[in-house]
Amino acid sequence: SLTAGVVAVQGDVSEHAAAIESAAAAHGESAEVVEIRESGIVPECDLLSIPGGESTTISRLLAREGIDEEVKAHVAEGKPLLATCAGLIVASSDANDDRVETLDLLDVSVQRNAFGRQRDSFEADLDVDGLTEPFHAVFIRAPVIDEVGDAEVLASWDGRPVAVRDGPVLGTSFHPELTGDSRVHDLAFFE
Ligand code: GLN
Repeated sequence: SLTAGVVAVQGDVSEHAAAIESAAAAHGESAEVVEIRESGIVPECDLLSIPGGESTTISRLLAREGIDEEVKAHVAEGKPLLATCAGLIVASSDANDDRVETLDLLDVSVQRNAFGRQRDSFEADLDVDGLTEPFHAVFIRAPVIDEVGDAEVLASWDGRPVAVRDGPVLGTSFHPELTGDSRVHDLAFFE
């Protein structure tokens, strides 16, 4: 059985857990999901997810608890990380916001809340590299990826990248855990 860590500082943890379990099952694997709020757990994990939420809060708690260095070590070992929405902001190389200490695991620059304010949240069907059918994506105060360095764009919306991959790290502007479709988790962890 795989050990799957979900950073549980805030955000939709149970939905990520369900998507991971479903993606694992599709590959004949089982996953035990553990919530990460303190150091010492990430080193036990085979795969990791950083959900949405508020990137300033997530980044502050990761640094305070020393989880930030553990996540960097996880990726340095080539183990997969899925970073969604606020998680993408935290994993990026530049959040264009002093209150976010980025982990520099995904070579993109992002602008927070740039797809619109809360009331402007929207949904879109995306063509994603590696998926045969479109993925129904939910954007909630989503970050815009405004520069892509050494990373591969897997999906775009309105001419902007919204899913990117950099080695073992997959980042999305949207929330792939909210629609009961685990194909993005599948791409991140099992493909
Ligand atoms: N607006 C949030 C931030 O900038 C991200 C939104 C989300 O994760 N749904 O941290």
